[in-house]
Amino acid sequence: MIGAVKIDAATGLLAGARQVFSPHFDARPAGVLPELLVVHGISLPPGEFGGPWIDRLFTGTLPADAHPYFGEIAAQRVSAHALIRRDGRIVQYVPFGERAWHAGQSAYRGRTACNDFSIGVELEGTDDVPYTKEQYEALAALTAALVAAYPSLSAQAMTGHSDVAPGRKTDPGPTFDWARFRELLDQALRATVRG
Ligand SMILES: [Zn+2]
Repeated sequence: MIGAVKIDAATGLLAGARQVFSPHFDARPAGVLPELLVVHGISLPPGEFGGPWIDRLFTGTLPADAHPYFGEIAAQRVSAHALIRRDGRIVQYVPFGERAWHAGQSAYRGRTACNDFSIGVELEGTDDVPYTKEQYEALAALTAALVAAYPSLSAQAMTGHSDVAPGRKTDPGPTFDWARFRELLDQALRATVRG
């Protein structure tokens, strides 16, 4: 059973999520609405789960000297709208109506600058470790809530970071099971319609 997840479209906030607001966002271009979901994978340090470092990266407070890899990325000004931890808990960094800085140089079906028109959701994980059942369920519930809150967003317009930034990004990786996600999303959408 997928728990109810609700988004207030006016504020762009997810009820019940832990909110850790990032300074790394700005407004979408005038008149541009969320039309695409971009799925990402992230872990910090790479391959390690559960630490505070993703929050720290997205809030611009990652200590460069805490790990050799952090020195390379600490100065990056990046974010995502939300992160789904390994246990399925959701952390929100940027209101969904705003533009988070997650996709970088990117294109979806010929349309560049995906941050302008997309919502970026990170799954805590790596390209070669299966994502958890709790993560698939939370992602499906979150996506159904996003589709309900933003009619501009279609359940058909979903992609991976590697698909919009090929050659530059590999996440969420081959371990992300799109068919499984779509099946759970269908269930969540049906549950949403039933109310
Ligand atoms: Zn990514």
